Amino acid sequence: MPIFEYRCRKCDHCFEVLIRNSAEESTLQCPRCEGGEPEKLLSTFARSCSSKETLSSNCRPSSGGFS
Ligand SMILES: [Zn+2]
Repeated sequence: MPIFEYRCRKCDHCFEVLIRNSAEESTLQCPRCEGGEPEKLLSTFARSCSSKETLSSNCRPSSGGFS
């Protein structure tokens, strides 16, 4: 299942969402401020998302213990 990365247009918070169907995507809310219609980030641009650096700098092999 695809996981997409989004950035809230209101508070700039970045978060990942597991999208199971398109209806789910259309009702996305920012988990921090509950703002609607977050901006979808393409994987190429995900690194520019400064508030979340789990992809590159924190290079732990997927231990799954991230909370
Ligand atoms: Zn937000």
